[in-house]
Amino acid sequence: MNYRRILVFGAHPDDEITMARTMARLADEGVAVTVVIMTNGCEGYPDPKMKKSIVRIRAREARNCNRVLGIARRVIMDIPDMGLTNDKPTLKRFIKIIRDVRPDAIFTHGPHDEHRDHVATHFITRSAYFHAGEPVAAEDGKPWKTPYLYYYKGVRAPLPQVVIDVSAYKEKGEEAWATQVSQYAVFRKTAADFKREIAALKKDRSPAYERFWVAEPVILKDFPPLGIDAPDNYYGKR
Ligand SMILES: [Zn+2]
Repeated sequence: MNYRRILVFGAHPDDEITMARTMARLADEGVAVTVVIMTNGCEGYPDPKMKKSIVRIRAREARNCNRVLGIARRVIMDIPDMGLTNDKPTLKRFIKIIRDVRPDAIFTHGPHDEHRDHVATHFITRSAYFHAGEPVAAEDGKPWKTPYLYYYKGVRAPLPQVVIDVSAYKEKGEEAWATQVSQYAVFRKTAADFKREIAALKKDRSPAYERFWVAEPVILKDFPPLGIDAPDNYYGKR
């Protein structure tokens, strides 16, 4: 993952934490990590008293998460939680973001998920990844073909996988989850639980990995030649 810029799409503030340790590692290695959250998380309140303030609270928690993981830039869209739709105006907003960021790799949700926003994020970002690279919708920026597309969750199909060693960043996942204080009821955890788990992970010397599924259309050219009877240009030019 020798990238300069990556773009991570998450349906809600905290979905991106699934790949927290990889983001922390890449940020440390000098990669500019941009996170785009598709919805504002407005339904994520466990107590009716929090309804009015939840969007503000989650934006603050997201900023704390940025600091823990070294996320350089985060955009939280103004689309309501549970209300993300795969329509044309929405698609065009994400085409524009991809063309602005010009990432070397995009990470997003896979299609197999219970949450409608997660599934919508998959299809919207898949489409935006494709259309951003085509000479269309020119007022939304210069075409940018992102070389790599990965899913970080929501996959049950047997797609090829990339495995990243995050042994040196083991506690970064729990540290990031711990910033999401408004969601502790959803996680069924307390601050004391996080504190204990983070301390244990810091002492744990066993290896740790995060895995990513490779979206199939972009992978063939990246396999090394297999010695089979294929034309010289079969794998494309690098
Ligand atoms: Zn979510």
